[in-house]
Amino acid sequence: MATDSCDGCGRSVSLAGGIANIWTFGEDDGSDGTAMTLEFEDGTSHLLCYPCIGALPDDPTAADVDRLEQVDEETSRLAE
Ligand SMILES: [Zn+2]
Repeated sequence: MATDSCDGCGRSVSLAGGIANIWTFGEDDGSDGTAMTLEFEDGTSHLLCYPCIGALPDDPTAADVDRLEQVDEETSRLAE
């Protein structure tokens, strides 16, 4: 399993297997990884931890990713 850091908050994350494995979640709650790759319409992609993904609005932009920051081990937020 690859380990990396979240593009939003910098938290250390593990990536289960990238975009191709998104649809395999379910058998073990996706606990193999703590991050997903998010692709924007402009073609850029960002590795984001689940708390950051949860903190992003429904239609996130790269500017939103820049504003992500870690609150604690399980929480992220958008900085003002
Ligand atoms: Zn994060």
